[in-house]
Amino acid sequence: MNIFPKTVPESIWRAHLATYSHSIVHYTKKHIALIEAAGETFSPFNLYVCPLCTESYFYVGRNEILGNAEFSLDHLPPESVGGALKVLTCKKCNNEAGYDEAELIRLVTFGSVPDKRRNSILPYTYVINKSTGDRWPVRVIKTESTVNLFFDEKAKVHKERLKKFLSEMHNGEHPQLQIFVGSPDLGKISRALLKSAYLICFVWWGYEFVFSKNTELIL
Ligand SMILES: [Zn+2]
Repeated sequence: MNIFPKTVPESIWRAHLATYSHSIVHYTKKHIALIEAAGETFSPFNLYVCPLCTESYFYVGRNEILGNAEFSLDHLPPESVGGALKVLTCKKCNNEAGYDEAELIRLVTFGSVPDKRRNSILPYTYVINKSTGDRWPVRVIKTESTVNLFFDEKAKVHKERLKKFLSEMHNGEHPQLQIFVGSPDLGKISRALLKSAYLICFVWWGYEFVFSKNTELIL
């Protein structure tokens, strides 16, 4: 199995082992058997476990890297809001969180709308053509005196109904344009924020936080 993509060079995963392995020494029971069964001599300093699921791991053996999952770099805070710190988590955990994290950027841009700031962008908006029931996504940018609608360039070329709708709009045939704004999903946002908070605790306390019961080991 290819444990690391090209975006995770050896220097990065070695740095993770060096930083976090000292805190995993009391929590390796489950992995010792797996690693020794693969013919390796176990050392906690060669083991890294995904801090989110605690199921995925990789181990640096004598000749190869063992593991049961692919690992990639997770951003802290989420990349969608400009997170610059990174920590290794298994790809599955990272991908699942991605759907929640994408929602954060919606919340951030959504928040800029009601205050009527210049050039604020309304995300994930639909222009609705009532006569046909079509819904087209559009970005709405407010300036001081106008509200501008920006349709996807590709859609404008390839979608015949949208093309027709736009030319009708240009001719003033849709005086009662409806704009629908989907509000951000607070459940997804809460999960994304909790995950970030959890990973920050991992960065600070290591596996003593991840494996502690009711945080008793870190207080
Ligand atoms: Zn995981």
